[in-house]
Amino acid sequence: MFLNHYHCDCCGTDWTDEYPCQVDDDCPKCGDRHISPHRFEDMAHAPYIRTMGELVAALNRGMGEPWNHIPGDVLSDLLETRLHGVTNGGISRYFETKDDATDYATTLPGDAVASLFSGTPQRLFLDD
Ligand SMILES: [Zn+2]
Repeated sequence: MFLNHYHCDCCGTDWTDEYPCQVDDDCPKCGDRHISPHRFEDMAHAPYIRTMGELVAALNRGMGEPWNHIPGDVLSDLLETRLHGVTNGGISRYFETKDDATDYATTLPGDAVASLFSGTPQRLFLDD
């Protein structure tokens, strides 16, 4: 299966859909036809994420949209779990616990701008 990413030039809608191949789709909002995917992910090679640890690892590997690899039955559980991140000069690392995030933050050089924040992945990543 492929997770195809579409963008409608007509109305600006972005959406994704799962198909066995990279096919054109119609805009779900304005109905514009035959839009080709601008990006696709091969789901067969993208392992499902089922635990907070796997989500943290995916984020630290730089997986752009790990939410697309979380099965529906565990998505809401994972999104309710708090995720802790440390931002250091534009590079973010993520941790399962605030203690782990704090430990990492204290290893950073004194002049590094380290900010500690916590929130849900939803709040961190689904805001555009
Ligand atoms: Zn549209």
